[in-house]
Amino acid sequence: MSKRELENFKGCLLGGAIGDALGWPIEFLGIDEIKDKFGENGIEDLVLGAFGKAEITDDTQMTLFTAEGLLRNKVRENLEEESEADIDFTTIMHNAYLRWLSTQERLPKIKDKILHNSWLVQVWSLSKLRAPGSTCLSALREEEIGTIDQPINSSKGCGGVMRVAPVGLLYGMEEAFDIGCKCAALTHGHPSGYLSAGFFSALISQIVSGEDLKEAVLKCLSLLKKYPNSEECVEKIQLALELVDSNELSNEAIREIGEGWIAEEAISIAVYCALRFQNDYKKAIIAAVNHNGDSDSTGAITGNILGAYLGVFGIPNDYIENIELFEQISEMAEDLYIGYEESDKWRNKYPGK
Ligand SMILES: [Mg+2]
Repeated sequence: MSKRELENFKGCLLGGAIGDALGWPIEFLGIDEIKDKFGENGIEDLVLGAFGKAEITDDTQMTLFTAEGLLRNKVRENLEEESEADIDFTTIMHNAYLRWLSTQERLPKIKDKILHNSWLVQVWSLSKLRAPGSTCLSALREEEIGTIDQPINSSKGCGGVMRVAPVGLLYGMEEAFDIGCKCAALTHGHPSGYLSAGFFSALISQIVSGEDLKEAVLKCLSLLKKYPNSEECVEKIQLALELVDSNELSNEAIREIGEGWIAEEAISIAVYCALRFQNDYKKAIIAAVNHNGDSDSTGAITGNILGAYLGVFGIPNDYIENIELFEQISEMAEDLYIGYEESDKWRNKYPGK
């Protein structure tokens, strides 16, 4: 059951980016407005932006910065001299998200030192403002760093879960769960806010190791149940599973789960869409974005899941050809696939701090 193919890594990140981009033009539209604008079936094709490509949003931006932070942490773990590793995991990930923040607004001078040597910060089009989540912005502006033990707020918005797919590409199921929670708790202090992220990370991990999709969801659900305060998340994911087995139309089923602005709804909508249309990436993300709620985030999470499951060749070509930042997203997927390399070039690309 150890599969871990590059095409699944690429599928995960590109699949998420495409779901994000498909949902972006309708993020703030109700279903009636969506139908008025795009027809009875809703939005099905990527809308091209000013530069001729479909635009990704904060979900994909932050996913890339999560990946960069995790790869830097791998270098930290591999530093031979312990004295060199004078920074912990939490601070590395916090710095990674501060670099994302620096692409959205000017940081106070004192934080400038964390910006150096990041190839992502140099990617000009990553600094576009695409409705960044207000909780992510406000939590990262704080001096304190949010953790599970010292929550920075009581938010369970979906901004914690929508960005953690790379965790599952780098770690085994149980470790991915823990690390996914920690990454989300930096900005989202409510248990449902970070446990949804733990579940999502663990699910991606199971998928890329070759597990059947339904089996992977069930395993991660069992793991989720072991965590304190997980009842709310468990209930929503169980509802998604029941709806997959029902005759309910997908739009009705999604309405029953919620709108996806909050974390446990977003992950459950994604689990529902991925399982319901598990052999058809296109149908899954179309279902995942055409509703009243947070379309780009539910599209991104669904896209991460099914992209990882079906691989990049399971994603229609016209989506792949039209997605913004295709090369950079592919490069990040390749680097996650490598994980760590003992070379100066790698350490310069991902300094262990
Ligand atoms: Mg977004």
